[in-house]
Amino acid sequence: MSVTIAVAGNPNSGKTTLFNALTGSNQYVGNWPGVTVEKKEGLLIGHPEVVLVDLPGIYSLSTNSLEEEIARDYLLESNPDAIINIVDGTSLERNLYLTTQLAELGIPMVLAINMMDEVEKSGTRIDSKALGEAFGLPVVKISALHETQIDELTGAAMDVAQKNRRMLSVHRFSGGVEHTLGHIEEVVLHEQPEHKQRWYAVKLFERNELVEAELGLSAELKAHIEQDIRLCELEYDDDSDSIIASERYNFIEQLLERVSVRKKTGELSSSDRIDRIVTNRWLALPIFALVMFVVYYVSVNTVGASLSAWTNDKLFGEIILPAVSGKLVDWGVANWLQGLLVDGILAGVGSVLSFLPQMVVLFLFLGLLEFSGYMSRVTFILDRMFRKFGLSGKSFIPMLIGSGCSVPAILAARTIENESARRMTVITTSFIPCSAKLPVISMIAGAFFGGKGWVAFGAYFLGIAAVVISGLILKKTALFQGEPSPFVMELPAYRYPSLKCIFNTTWDRVSSFVKKATSVILLAAIVIWFLTYFGWVEGRFQMLEAGQINHSILAAIGTSIAWVFKPLGWGEWRPVMAALNGLVAKETVVSSFGIFYGFSEVAAGGQEMWMSLRAAFSPLSATSFLIFVLLSAPCIAAISSIRREMNSAMWTLFAVGYMTAFGYIAALIVYQLGTWLQEGVFTLWTGITLAVTGVVLWLIFRPSPQANGRLKRARAGSRG
Ligand code: GDP
Ligand code: MG
Repeated sequence: MSVTIAVAGNPNSGKTTLFNALTGSNQYVGNWPGVTVEKKEGLLIGHPEVVLVDLPGIYSLSTNSLEEEIARDYLLESNPDAIINIVDGTSLERNLYLTTQLAELGIPMVLAINMMDEVEKSGTRIDSKALGEAFGLPVVKISALHETQIDELTGAAMDVAQKNRRMLSVHRFSGGVEHTLGHIEEVVLHEQPEHKQRWYAVKLFERNELVEAELGLSAELKAHIEQDIRLCELEYDDDSDSIIASERYNFIEQLLERVSVRKKTGELSSSDRIDRIVTNRWLALPIFALVMFVVYYVSVNTVGASLSAWTNDKLFGEIILPAVSGKLVDWGVANWLQGLLVDGILAGVGSVLSFLPQMVVLFLFLGLLEFSGYMSRVTFILDRMFRKFGLSGKSFIPMLIGSGCSVPAILAARTIENESARRMTVITTSFIPCSAKLPVISMIAGAFFGGKGWVAFGAYFLGIAAVVISGLILKKTALFQGEPSPFVMELPAYRYPSLKCIFNTTWDRVSSFVKKATSVILLAAIVIWFLTYFGWVEGRFQMLEAGQINHSILAAIGTSIAWVFKPLGWGEWRPVMAALNGLVAKETVVSSFGIFYGFSEVAAGGQEMWMSLRAAFSPLSATSFLIFVLLSAPCIAAISSIRREMNSAMWTLFAVGYMTAFGYIAALIVYQLGTWLQEGVFTLWTGITLAVTGVVLWLIFRPSPQANGRLKRARAGSRG
């Protein structure tokens, strides 16, 4: 018989550490259906009949954040045989809040007090017997990191699961509340199984709409219990959900006075001392900048960059590619198949895999920052600023990484807990010019603006402005109205990060990227290779020779859609195709121009064709072209990372569509209004552009339609 045990607890309570210790490498990592939150399942070492499920880290079951919804749905619908509720022994007060709620679910449960090594070091004593009695469940003190007592823990969990020991002595609320809860149970819940009644009663008392809907209450019954709830609210002079929240806290406070004895010391803990410096009003930002500089410098610039360059130029360019083509020639493989294998598949997949070393270095660093506890401080320092744009304090890191490459940047958004902020980050990160866009910038800067540095600077500024503007626009839309996750002021203590954890997370992130990204990229590389190397020559469909690219299918597509870009000032197939080719990798925009203007080899900045470019573009249309290339859909590697992180085709389409529309409109505004100012001629397009500009300004500055609702929810949640 198989047994399922769910591991639930606050973020940072050590769930993942415990889970890894218990399952070893017998784990399966995936996403919960339809969402990006990670789902981990694994088999208990030595007990292949026991499945462990690592639930998302949550602080409560009463706000409706995505993580909570997933955990709640899982617990209520999948009926695990037991819950291991892991709590951080160094901050019981915050952690036990969730315990009071889990205990009401009527599922057999064991309490694991983790970080006992630290608790003991600090001289605090915890009376696990009294704690167990108060909640009516077994309590085991463990250290997930040092793997102490974890067999006792799983033993206890398997025991409650087998005996199906539901908790009966859950904590009580005060008289008036219990009276109302009893009444609710009597009126609407008597047909529900007994062990579920309490959970439902509390939720109905809190007027939880999901539970009301689930139970299918008639209007009459609803009105009946509403009357009781009102009476109780009058008696306590508070909202029902606030009553419940504050009673939970009172219960925990009183309980902790009995079960936990803190050694009295006047001095600050070492964590507090570090925080005095690191979150200091004046020092916080400079220290943060320094940390980020080091991370960036090492992973993007030095170690990562040289490793990536080596993979790209040496490993693929000089070793694998020539070796493979040599072999193919030796074997007499057909030309087209050679082209497909070498130019299509190897070149495409190789360009993606060359990001890999950079990503590994970067993720090792991020893991270090995350597990040591510094990342929580980053969120704390930057959150207030970033929140204004619907982002999270942690969005800074993807944005920074994005200036190197959007692929690892998008993956780094994973550390953002809030779903809505994470989506926003994934969508806007590639607005920041990545290193592959630099050649395009220097080509335009060189050909039209004397190679001035301010063009590059302007490109970064444009990227940041695009992020800010998108934040202001998008966060007011229904798509992003997700509840802001409650900001927890209590920062977790600094810890020496465990290397095993860091390596595990890095491995998880990197390997899942390789698996999913390569499949998409493989397909895309084949398609684009086909479009570029096949076409019609003198009415005959065939594989093209060098220099016949003008006959390719891609060229045909470029010609047929060129009119779309007319209003941007470059409605001609060459720039359109160059921009399209940028989908493969943004560097190829420059090399595509080279091919179209008949230069087989061009330098990174495209110096050879500046003259041809000046003939084809005006400074204004070149600027508009650059803006479009910088802001529109990113390369396929980045798109497939978006797909991976969003875990939804719709969201990916939205992201790509949004960016492309954003790039188009920005280029339109610059080109049309620029032309109007320069030439003073008012055309139909000037009018359309003015109207579009008006709409964009309105979208940016309109008041948020949800502001009122959010305020109310935030007030209700602030005590919860
Ligand atoms: P999660 O967010 O609940 O998955 O928590 P993690 O497993 O990621 O752990 C958060 C941090 O606590 C990591 O730095 C762990 O190394 C650390 N940690 C976990 N368990 C213990 C423990 O028993 N003792 C100590 N000292 N640290 C621990
Ligand atoms: Mg975790």
